[in-house]
Amino acid sequence: MNETFIALGRLQSLDSELATLAARNEEIPQRVERLKKDTEQARSSLDATRQAITDHKKEYKLAEVELKSAEEKIGSYSVQLYSAKTNEQYKAFLKEIETQKKIKSRVEDRMIVLMEEAERLEQRRVAAEKEAGVLDADAGRKVAALEAELAEVRAAVTEREAGRKELLAVLPPAVLKLYERVRKNKGGLAVVSTKHERCGGCLSPIPAQIMLEISRKDRIHTCEACGRILIPDGN
Ligand SMILES: [Zn+2]
Repeated sequence: MNETFIALGRLQSLDSELATLAARNEEIPQRVERLKKDTEQARSSLDATRQAITDHKKEYKLAEVELKSAEEKIGSYSVQLYSAKTNEQYKAFLKEIETQKKIKSRVEDRMIVLMEEAERLEQRRVAAEKEAGVLDADAGRKVAALEAELAEVRAAVTEREAGRKELLAVLPPAVLKLYERVRKNKGGLAVVSTKHERCGGCLSPIPAQIMLEISRKDRIHTCEACGRILIPDGN
């Protein structure tokens, strides 16, 4: 019976470790995915800012062309003004000059706004470049560490599963059946040590006679309150 008790204790340790490893095995790829996604987002934000700067420069160039055109028209009408043959012609040239001056002023205002925007975009680009660069280096390092850990986790799972198989061969089928049933019902914890004459799982007191039998490892006892298999402390 002693062998059964030892095997039960070991099986519980292995299964608890396997549960922790399984959680890690699931968590690590998700974290890697998140890190990669964050880096991609930072990069696409940087690309968007760079594109905005390019678009902005084109718009500024167009404004420059528009300004030049207005200035040339003002110059040309100002010259024609002196060759006007009638009062109407003179007035018409004056009106054109006024119109072009208004256009010129509007374009100049627009150019000031564009220059201010260009400054903001430039600041945003510098910040986005820094963020993307930091994230890139950081994520690369973290992903490498996580992938190394994942390999370790998987190796540990293989090793413990082999150990588990050996224990299953040692345990009597009825005990194994009990173990699996309790483990399923009790959130993975089927075997507990007694602690100061209490169940190590739910802390219910254990009658003296049963404590005696547990310590002698005469037969398998389960806790009357929670149903977990009881093994002596320091088994
Ligand atoms: Zn209990």
